[in-house]
This record gives sequence, structure tokens and C-alpha cells, in this order.
Amino acid sequence: MIEILGCLTYEHNLPLLFLAVGVCCMACFVSANVVRRLRLVARGHRVIWAIVAGLVYGCGVWATHFIAMLAFQPGLPISYAPGLTAVSALVAVLGAALAFPLVQASGKPRRGRALAGGTVLGLSVGAMHFMGMSAMRLPGTVEFSPPHAVLSVLAGGGLAALALARRFDRRRGRLAAACLLAVSILCLHFLGMAGTTILPDGNVEVAGGGLDGHLLAITTAAVVAAIATVGLSSVVLEEKLWGERTRDAARLRRLASGTFEGLLIHRGGTILDVNETLARLVGLPAAALVGHDITRILPAGVASRLRADPEAVANGTAALELELVTEGGRSIPVEILSRVIEEVKTGWRRRARLQPACAVAIRDLTERKRAEAQIRYLAHHDGLTGLPNRALLADRAHQVLELAAREGRGAAILCLDLDRFKTVNDVMGHEGGDRLLAQVAERLRASLRASDTVARLGGDEFAIIKADLDTPEAGAALANRVIAALSVPYDLDGQVFEIGTSVGIALFPGDGRTVPRLLHNADTALYRAKRDGRGVYRFFEPAMDQRLLERRAMERDLRVAVERGEMFLVYQPQFDTMTRELVGQEALLRWTHPARGVVPPSDFVPLAEEAGLIIPLGRWVLETACIEAAGWPVPCRVAVNLSPAQFRQPDLVAAISGILERTGLPPQRLKMEVTEGLLIGDTERALTVLRALKAMGIFLSLDDFGTGYSSLGYLRRFPFDELKIDQSFVRGLGRDVESAAIIEAVLALGRSLGLSVVAEGVETEEQLGMLRSRGCPQVQGYLLGRPARSGEFFAAAVTPRLPETLLAASPHMHGSA
Ligand code: C2E
Ligand code: CA
Ligand code: CA
Repeated sequence: MIEILGCLTYEHNLPLLFLAVGVCCMACFVSANVVRRLRLVARGHRVIWAIVAGLVYGCGVWATHFIAMLAFQPGLPISYAPGLTAVSALVAVLGAALAFPLVQASGKPRRGRALAGGTVLGLSVGAMHFMGMSAMRLPGTVEFSPPHAVLSVLAGGGLAALALARRFDRRRGRLAAACLLAVSILCLHFLGMAGTTILPDGNVEVAGGGLDGHLLAITTAAVVAAIATVGLSSVVLEEKLWGERTRDAARLRRLASGTFEGLLIHRGGTILDVNETLARLVGLPAAALVGHDITRILPAGVASRLRADPEAVANGTAALELELVTEGGRSIPVEILSRVIEEVKTGWRRRARLQPACAVAIRDLTERKRAEAQIRYLAHHDGLTGLPNRALLADRAHQVLELAAREGRGAAILCLDLDRFKTVNDVMGHEGGDRLLAQVAERLRASLRASDTVARLGGDEFAIIKADLDTPEAGAALANRVIAALSVPYDLDGQVFEIGTSVGIALFPGDGRTVPRLLHNADTALYRAKRDGRGVYRFFEPAMDQRLLERRAMERDLRVAVERGEMFLVYQPQFDTMTRELVGQEALLRWTHPARGVVPPSDFVPLAEEAGLIIPLGRWVLETACIEAAGWPVPCRVAVNLSPAQFRQPDLVAAISGILERTGLPPQRLKMEVTEGLLIGDTERALTVLRALKAMGIFLSLDDFGTGYSSLGYLRRFPFDELKIDQSFVRGLGRDVESAAIIEAVLALGRSLGLSVVAEGVETEEQLGMLRSRGCPQVQGYLLGRPARSGEFFAAAVTPRLPETLLAASPHMHGSA
């Protein structure tokens, strides 16, 4: 130690010595930073950075040594052999360039590497030192003490190893490393110098040597400073670029992860990168995918296609759809698109580019598939009941028929139409009607097997496809089961409704071999079932078809009949048997069909009722009858027939009062003829409406009396003014005793309830006589007047009265009854 200190203070020029230390520290500090970069840059760039580190450190060490040598003033003229001096510098540069790449990039440094690096550094710096010393030319001899030489190399190398074991990724670590390196260099140099003895010898000739030591030292320091500056600036520049690159990469990663598609980049099937979306999709962390083969995610078949030709799977427009099985075993529908992307640069080692990098986008189709399924469901199901709709029914029916044809078995299509469903709609509104339909659907489902299909065709129409139905008896049994299930009363908010269903059955293959044919024929049979009195089933018969076609055509024509002016009214007079006065005329509807001529109401009124056309038609009748009656010369009543369907219209009362107001006909002149059918079902409602009409002053007549439900109890409750004896009883007068008995009973009832009675269908004078003799107050019939256009009656009759001649046969007998 004393030797070192002595050597420093007595034999050195101090300012130059400080310059040497300064150069040393600067070189070490810059080197530490270059070394850190060297470990961070891409593999391909490392050699360059190792050279830079070697240059900075090696030149720095060499300059330190050289300046220190210049500061060494043993009192002899010294010069240096340029060749050896240069070689010594090269040794330092090479040693550093070899040692520094051994430094750990980040994390805990490895001791072995640090030791190896330190050894290389110690040896190279030592070699440089002693070579530099040997390059000295001076008048004398230089002697090294071997223990000092060994010690200096050991100390220098050890300290360098300690330096390389610092954490270069941390600022403090780098500073410590720089200090340790500087100390190691200085130690090595001055320990070496302490063991150096110079023996002056006047005989030794020294060549040249006129350069000023100071100038040389400063120039050397300046050169090293320049090198160090270049090194440092490249560190700073690289750092900046690197920062930008990492930010860019992070941004790209965020972007890639932000996409809804899973992204994967692979080269020749080896996954290079994936985004978070993909990792989430397959349920594996990105780390578990990168570096693996794409078969980790994709089915082998697809993977091999992708490997063979990345753009063959999908050329970027048409995607390939497949199912991915996730880590959890869930299978997800996806579509994939693949495309060769810009070849990823892997640095200056270009041989890495054997295959292009490809991007594969994997789009999760779960949502889309779900939406598609939803749409498909909606397109094939009825929204209200969830039953298949007509489209799906046809589809299923096709399958059933195909199978039946192949197996030589039978099948059936049943068409259903609810009876009295309209009543529910009228009373409970559409919302109530909808709820009832849902209950109906439930019952239908429950009464069928899962393999059968029940569909809602619309409104209150349903259809059933039954496979493996080989006998008509089986069809009948099914129909009966369905009818029974649907006729159990329904409860809607405490209101109980009884509806039923009519069923039409068409059998495969007898009634048709195609779905449309069978559906059509089942519908025809249904039509018949409805006409035959509801709540029954009918099998299709070929004869039904023609009639049905006719009815359908008629229905079409009926819809436009009023508009086209094909409807008109005729009036049939009603007389008082006592006074012979004309008391009223009944309006009867007529239709002049363009092809069929005049069609009787019995042919089209039921049709109009079924098709719902009776509502507008009935209004037209009412309005026309009121208008025409208002113009009659005699202010008798006009009787208008009302269908039960019309009666269920909620605004009937308002409509009638509106018509009366518009036409100016006094309510007392209007008679309404209703049938007993009106009184079944919602009697309370019927009662309310009848009372309202009665309150307006309208005359109420109960038509076809005796043919209906014949519960006489209602007569007392309902505000009728008149009973109309049905013509079947009048026809029976004189033929059977029952008819006469009924007529007598009705007349007695009328008298006891204070109701007027009118007998219709009076065709013979005999009938008229018998009615009069029993005290029937009013009569109507062909004998007394056929239905005729408005006003015709008044034009023909001199006086609008019952002709006296007709009464001749049985003069005034009713008084005796
Ligand atoms: P209804 O109410 O019982 O009408 C009486 C029917 O008997 C009329 O038949 C009439 O022409 C017929 N008639 C009258 N006198 C005799 C007779 O002496 N002998 C025979 N055999 N028949 C006689 P029409 O005009 O064919 O009407 C049939 C049914 O059509 C009516 O029976 C009625 O229920 C319905 N109808 C007629 N017009 C209308 C209408 O404007 N609205 C409604 N809802 N139904 C109507
Ligand atoms: Ca009538
Ligand atoms: Ca009648």
C-alpha cells in the first residue's frame, strides 16, 4: 500500500493522474449503460452493441493506462512503440467485447457468468497493461515483480467479476458496476505499477520522443471522451427508440386485445402471438398458446390446411365455419379467416424467414348463431302459443309423409277450428282471447305425443299431423280425444267459458298423397264438421270438395256484394186479424248474384255469419230498411231480422240509435226480430242490450218461437213485445194435432204475458181460418202477401188491409177463443 501511495505521489504528475481517473470513470459509466442496452436489444443487434461496449470500455481502459503512464515521471525520457501500444488497446477492446455479453439482461445475475466475465476482463486488462508497459522505450530497463503482477490481475479480475454481478437493469446497479469497474481498472494499473521497477541505464538509446506528455494525454482523453459520447448518445437514442417501440407494441397489443375477434399469428403452424380475446375464447392464458402448434386451438384438419396454404382456408372474404372445443370442453361455433401478413423481420439473420407469418382471425359466432336460431324459431313458430306455424307444419308433414310412404304406413292430418271462440274475444277482448288460445295450445300439446306435431295456422285454427295412423278408427279416437280435451270449461279471471272444437280429418294416402292436398281436404272436412253442428269430427269425402269450393267462391262474392249493389230488401206484410189493418212489414234480404241470379238468404246468411260478414251486412240491412220505411205512406212498423252474431257487437245499441237518428225513423216504428239462439251463452249481456233497445222504444219480437231451446223461463225475464210462431207449426195445422196444440199454447202464453203473437208462413185460407178461430192476433204469409220491393205493396193495394175475401171462410171466430 505504501508502495502504491508512494508510487502515486512521488513519481506521478498529479493533474494527469486525475485526468486518467476521470477518463476511467467516464468510460466505466458509459460502458455500464451500453452493456445494459446490449442485453435488451434484439438478438441480431447484440454483436454491434458488444463491439460498442468493447470500444468504449477498451479504449477507456487503454486511455486510462496511457494517460497514467504519461503522468508517470520517473525522470527519464519515455516514448512508446506504436505497434505494441495499438495491439495492447485492441486486446482491451476485444476482452471487453467478449466479457460484457455475459452480463444477465434482467433479474438475478448469474454468478458463473459474472466470474467468467470478470476473468476475461481481468486477463485482458492485465494483458493490455503489461503489453503497454513493454511498449515503453526509455534509457533503462523495466522490471516487473511477479507477485505484484499476479495480485494486480487477480484484484482487477475479481473486482470486475463483482461489477458484472450487479443488476444492470437498475440505475443503482449500473452505478455500482461502473464504480467497481473503475476501481478494478485503477487497482490493476497501480498495483501493477507498484511492482514495476525502472533501472536507469545511460547506455540505452531511445529513439524519437519529442511529443509533449500533457498534449498527448489531453488528446487521448479527448478521443476517449468522443468515443464515450458516441456510445452514450447511441444508448440514449436507442433507449428513446426502444421506449417508443414498447409503447407502440403496447398500443398494438391493446388494439388487438380490444377487437372482438380472436387473433392469432403463426408461422408454419407455430403460434407466435395471440390476443386476449382469443385467449379468453379458448379459455387458456396467452402464455399457454404462444410457441405451441395451432392444433392446440384448431381441429387437426383445419390446422393442416392452414399450414399448407394459409389463404386457401379463406381468402379474406369467405370465412370457414367450424366448432372450436375449448379447454373446458365447451364447443363454440366460430368462423375463421386467414391471411398472409407482412413478413415479420427477425433482424439481420434472414434465414429465419423460411415461411410467411400468417394472421388468423377467429370470430365467435355464438351470439350470431343464437340470433339466427331465434329468427328461425320465430319464423317457424306462432308467437302467441309457441306452437309450430304453418311453415313448420308443412315441413314436418313432408317428413312424416315421406317416411310413411317408405314404410308403407298411414298418417293423418287433422284440422281444428274452435267453436264459439268469437264470444270469448267479444267478452274478454283480444287479450283474453289470446290467453284462451294459449290454454288451448297447452291442452293440445298435452293430449298428443311428442312425436306428433300440433300447429297453429292462425286465428282459432289448429292442425295436427299424426304419424303411423293406419285406421280411420284411430283417427276418430284421436279426434274424440282432442274434442273432449278442448271442451272442458276454461277459466279466465274467474269467468268460465265453454268452447269446443270441430275437427276435419284427411288420411294419407287415401285422401291425398301431398301435404297441400291433405291439408286442403282436412279443411274441407272441417267445414263440413262445423256445418253439421260443431263439436264433431268429419272425415274427408270427395263429394265435400266441390260444395266447399262453391261456398268459398260464394264467400268471396259476398264480400263485395253490398259495394256492388247486388243486395236489396223485400218486404212481407203482417196484418192484424181483427182489424185487417196492415201492422208491419218484415224486411227480408235478397242477393242478386251476377252468375247465380237471386240467391235465397238461407244460402248465404249462414255463410255471412261464419265469415263474419253478417256485421257489415246487417248494418246495411238495418239502415236500408229504416230509410225505405221512413218513406212509406202508411206509418206501419218495419221488422228487421238480427243475427245473434250482430247482437254480440259491443256497439250495437249505439249503432242502432245512430241509424234511427240519421234516417229519421221513429224508434216505435222499428221491430227487431231475434231468435232464441241469442239467449244462450251470455244471457246477462243479451238482457242488457235488449233492455237498452226496449228503452229506446224499439219493438222486440222473438222469431221462430217454439223451435229453439224452449226454456220458457226466460220469457218472463226478457222484455219481448211479441212472439212469432214458427211457420213449421202453421204448416202442421190441420195435419197433426201437436202443431195445433203448440199454437194454442203459444197463444195462451202470449195472452198471459201480455205479448202480441204473430203466426208466419200462412199459405192457405184454412190455416188462416184456424189461426183466427184460435184468436191469433197477427198473421204473415204468402197467402196474405209475398215479399216484394219497398213500396210495391202500397202501389198495388187500394187500401193496405187484409183482403176481406180471405176472411170469408172463417168469419170472426177468435172472439170465442
Ligand atoms: P225468417 O225470419 O223466419 O223469415 C221468414 C221466411 O219465411 C222468409 O224467407 C220468407 O220469405 C218466408 N215466408 C214467408 N211467408 C211464407 C209462406 O207463406 N210460406 C213459406 N214457405 N215461406 C214463407 P226468406 O226470405 O227466404 O228468409 C229466410 C231466412 O233468412 C229468414 O227467416 C231469416 O232468418 C233470414 N233472413 C232474411 N233476411 C235477413 C236479414 O236481413 N238479416 C238476417 N240476419 N237474417 C235474414
Ligand atoms: Ca224473421
Ligand atoms: Ca221466422
